[in-house]
Amino acid sequence: MYNANSQRYETMQYKRCGKSGLLLPRVSLGLWHNFGSVDSFENQKKLLFTAFDCGITHFDLANNYGPVPGSAEENFGRILNSELKSYRDEMVISTKAGYEMWAGPYGNWGSRKYLISSLDQSLKRMGVDYVDIFYHHRPDPDTPLEETMSALADIVKSGKALYVGISNYNAEQTRLAAAILKDLGTPLLINQFRYNMLAREPEKDNLFYTLETIGAGSIAFCPLAQGLLTSRYLDGIPEGSRATHSVFLKKENITEDVLNKVRALNDIAQNRGQTIAEMALSWNLRKDRLTSVLIGASKEEQIRENVKVIAKMDFTDEELSDIDKILA
Ligand code: NDP
Repeated sequence: MYNANSQRYETMQYKRCGKSGLLLPRVSLGLWHNFGSVDSFENQKKLLFTAFDCGITHFDLANNYGPVPGSAEENFGRILNSELKSYRDEMVISTKAGYEMWAGPYGNWGSRKYLISSLDQSLKRMGVDYVDIFYHHRPDPDTPLEETMSALADIVKSGKALYVGISNYNAEQTRLAAAILKDLGTPLLINQFRYNMLAREPEKDNLFYTLETIGAGSIAFCPLAQGLLTSRYLDGIPEGSRATHSVFLKKENITEDVLNKVRALNDIAQNRGQTIAEMALSWNLRKDRLTSVLIGASKEEQIRENVKVIAKMDFTDEELSDIDKILA
């Protein structure tokens, strides 16, 4: 039976999510990969226990995570309801709906019909009465934003989620969504979006400033560019790595140009006394830019390495300018 590390809250830092009452760990764990029915259940336990032992309290899911879709929620629920049950109130669990989940016109996008039934399915799969955060996973160009946002607000009123978030919404879409939610009396908690050294669109879009004015928090997915911003691919494509089995990271994305950037970044990381993965995460969190980074992991050691980011999140102006030159 799992017993959590009694020192788990000593090194992790927790940051207020926007102007809400909720604190999130600076490093959160996502279950997009490595938690499906095709993955080792024993390894899933190890990943969750290691994360929790390191002070990671926030676990991010979605209806479609697997494969097969839904299986990450089922596996998470099995572990939660056996060995992590007594820690439920120490955890922030999120899930989402917005991508295709079931056949027909009601299993995708952003209708009230889809969001409410999808969350009901997610709660059943995880065996919980409520999630802490429920997200709309991506903007829907065809459903009125008022309908999607009022479904989110009603979900909070029904007690099935404590807070709501949006994901993959740009700055303008975020402003509009937040205004509707505010009118409905359910403030927007958080926006979840891709942000890393190799994907800086949120900077160009002024998303950070927008979220600050709204008073919402932020969490970056793929902060390690799915493993590219680590030492994983520096000497080729290792057996079992994401690039060998996932359609989301193709071998052809691992170009010499990317690897040269990673090698140059690696030199800066070494001078800072960090690994490239640690530096990539600290760069994301620099100057309190984000509430949390949402990492993935296939091995316990990766989690242990990644939480070391907490020890060094500041950069000199010279380091930042050298990094910008490499990334230009
Ligand atoms: P990362 O960018 O952190 O990539 C994780 C992968 O990088 C791991 O699976 C592992 O790959 C490798 N890795 C991690 N740490 C190390 C390390 N220290 N050394 C070497 N390799 C390492 O994040 P993900 O792409 O996994 O995304 C994280 C989460 O973000 C998801 O689980 C999900 O919750 C969320 N997400 C949300 C999206 C949205 O639309 N809202 C979209 C995508 C993700 P390997 O398997 O090769 O070992």
